[in-house]
Amino acid sequence: MSAQVAALLLLVLAAGGAPAQPAATVNAECRRIAQKLASVGHGECLQLDLAVTRGESVQGAPILYREFPPVAERQPRARVLLIGGIHGDEYSSVSIVFKWMNILDTHHSGLFHWRIVPLLNPDGLLRERAWRMNANGVDLNRNFPMPDWENVAPRYWVEQTDRSPRYFPGERALSEPESRWLVDEINGFSPDVIVAVHAPHGVVDYDGPRSGPRKLGRLYLSLLGTFPGSLGNYAGVQRRIPVVTVELPYAGIMPKPGEIGEMWRDLVRWLSNNTPSRQPIAGAKPGQDTDPS
Ligand SMILES: [Zn+2]
Repeated sequence: MSAQVAALLLLVLAAGGAPAQPAATVNAECRRIAQKLASVGHGECLQLDLAVTRGESVQGAPILYREFPPVAERQPRARVLLIGGIHGDEYSSVSIVFKWMNILDTHHSGLFHWRIVPLLNPDGLLRERAWRMNANGVDLNRNFPMPDWENVAPRYWVEQTDRSPRYFPGERALSEPESRWLVDEINGFSPDVIVAVHAPHGVVDYDGPRSGPRKLGRLYLSLLGTFPGSLGNYAGVQRRIPVVTVELPYAGIMPKPGEIGEMWRDLVRWLSNNTPSRQPIAGAKPGQDTDPS
């Protein structure tokens, strides 16, 4: 390659032809995550080949993701967007997404096209004392748009939470880079199902058409209702994209490994039974993506 061609190629890449994926950035972010989460090792994080998105937190931390793309000659049954760490003090909601990525890394069969964001709110988790909100003190799960957000979300915050800082919805819908990025991601990836992980209510919640999984492991379906500005309200109620909200029982204690696998198998089974098949899948069995045998 001539120097001129190389320079041109660099220019094209720099102009945004492909998202930047600086290994050093991923390495540094994995180190920060591993220092914070006892359940996630630095090497484990690196091994997952996370990529840098165009998304950044308020403080400039990268929002990392991993894609498990379609497998050759197999039409995926659905596109699934899986998100952890919307709330920074829900440690287990990040760690379990890493464990599920490990399972997929070994068993991804192309049954689904996954896009996985283990930590949407890096500033909330990685500050000295983790907290629920982002660096602007906004509860990202109250910052998504809805009709009349300007009135409904602030009123709910005042009347129902007594202005608790933990539930501050922001000055306006999508005021935050993390929530804006997620909406762009939903528009771009066009998921058939969204799975969001939280803690510590110990149930499965669901918003959207039809009905949610009856159980995931030992967590049972229990509808918590929708909150103004929440992801369930925005994507599930308004856009009619099924949103499965996994509420782990403890924010600081991980489910046991067997339980983590059982929840995953139940999730894949529910997805298999509740997503429209785009074309017949020869020989596919529900749960195949995770079957360790
Ligand atoms: Zn939460």
